[in-house]
Amino acid sequence: MVCHYGVRDIVYLQDMTLVEHPQIGATLYDFFHIQRAPDVPQLQTLLTGSKLAAYMRQIGELKWAEDEIHWADQEEDPVEVAPCDIGEIIKDLELLTNMGLNRKSMKRAEVQHAPQHSASAEKTKQSPTTLFDPCNYPPPWPLVPFSALTHNLQKRIPFHLLPQKLIVHDPWNLLSVPDVKEDSGNDTDWTAKDDIIWMYNLELSTAGKEKVKMEKESRAELDRKNEDTNQRESFLHMPDSETSRPVEPAIMVFPPPRPPPPESVPEAHLYLSPAHRSGAGNHSVVYKAELELPRSILVDDVLCQKCMMDKVAEHVEEKKRRGEYPYDDALKEGCRDTESPGESSQSARTPNSQSAKVTLSDNNSPAITMEFISVEEHKAEQKKKDGDFGKVDGVSHGGDGKDKSDRKFHTVKPAQTTRTITYEGPIVEVFPEVEWQNPERGPYCSHLQQLSRCKRGPVTAKVSVAAKLSIQYDEHLAREAHNYQSFPSDLF
Ligand SMILES: [Zn+2]
Ligand SMILES: [Zn+2]
Repeated sequence: MVCHYGVRDIVYLQDMTLVEHPQIGATLYDFFHIQRAPDVPQLQTLLTGSKLAAYMRQIGELKWAEDEIHWADQEEDPVEVAPCDIGEIIKDLELLTNMGLNRKSMKRAEVQHAPQHSASAEKTKQSPTTLFDPCNYPPPWPLVPFSALTHNLQKRIPFHLLPQKLIVHDPWNLLSVPDVKEDSGNDTDWTAKDDIIWMYNLELSTAGKEKVKMEKESRAELDRKNEDTNQRESFLHMPDSETSRPVEPAIMVFPPPRPPPPESVPEAHLYLSPAHRSGAGNHSVVYKAELELPRSILVDDVLCQKCMMDKVAEHVEEKKRRGEYPYDDALKEGCRDTESPGESSQSARTPNSQSAKVTLSDNNSPAITMEFISVEEHKAEQKKKDGDFGKVDGVSHGGDGKDKSDRKFHTVKPAQTTRTITYEGPIVEVFPEVEWQNPERGPYCSHLQQLSRCKRGPVTAKVSVAAKLSIQYDEHLAREAHNYQSFPSDLF
């Protein structure tokens, strides 16, 4: 997101020396024009509320905005709210497509992924091996552009994963931007015209190349860390238990390390349609376009939990057979079914030095509720209380009951039970051999096939993006692109 400066007010400040404080506005309305010398109105400085407040504190000039600074002190720090994981949305949309909804397949003859014209230098031949090869798509993919629901891309693609080659599918020749004012938006079928394909090569600025270098360095560091087995991810598989009781030993599962994400994106495709124009400016025209990327850029590899726990059970069985499972025979007899041992077997347990148990403790916090009553009701109640002295009940009984049922109780905080499960005993380490799944490496396991309702998912995924097309010979867009590359990455 690009922050546009919202200027709210003019503040006068005498002889202000700029203090080192980050220029970060707490909100988009936290930017101010400052007149550092009121006698020189031309001298204006753009500052943020946080920087101003820091300076006012420094010089002890707090009385002008005493209340505001007091409020600011009491406010919590802003937090970053991440958008929904695009990978999960893509998987949901794929499921819809597999269920026969959200789809309109391209006819094989309509699929053109390679530029077929050679009139311009920008149109060139396509490399022979590519993810986007039509035979890589499992039916019903590929879908007709703009025929299915796609989600907005809200995640920033790091510089080193920007596509090296962007292949633009533009049947209406919108790229030539003949006239900004003309709105050719009509809802014709995307396949009605022959596709015109153009190829663009990624050209980063010096700042952009620097960012690629930095991203690659921090990635190499992360890879080194992951290789270090001491830092390998694991999770504890605790025996299920509803009550405090002796159990089988807990298992520490070490899943195989996640395969590294792609290092680069050689190719991506962009689809343009006149029916999805979202605006025009003095220098460019903006279309809502479909960007087709390698799926693994947006969707994480999946480790099937079912496959993994099956493998863990296999390993535990083997350890038991070899006598490597620290659990005595009497217990083993009673615990054939590790999930729910019979109650009768409890007495057969003879805890030894290797015994394991779980202890459950619940901590209840009661609900906090609030009741709203009107002033009249409150007065009536007071009156009744006063009159109740020496009065036999029965007269006011009916009315009283009715009032109570009409009242509304609001729950401020529901009752909560926090359960703490404590495990005491040995921990058995298990290293299950399971594969991280990604359609690029073959079909899914039977569990994932059932969940996704397909044998194998597509290897590419489409998202909705805004495509800004420059008017010919206008240099604004190139400069804008340079700006984006020079911005610090925390601005996005
Ligand atoms: Zn702007
Ligand atoms: Zn599975």
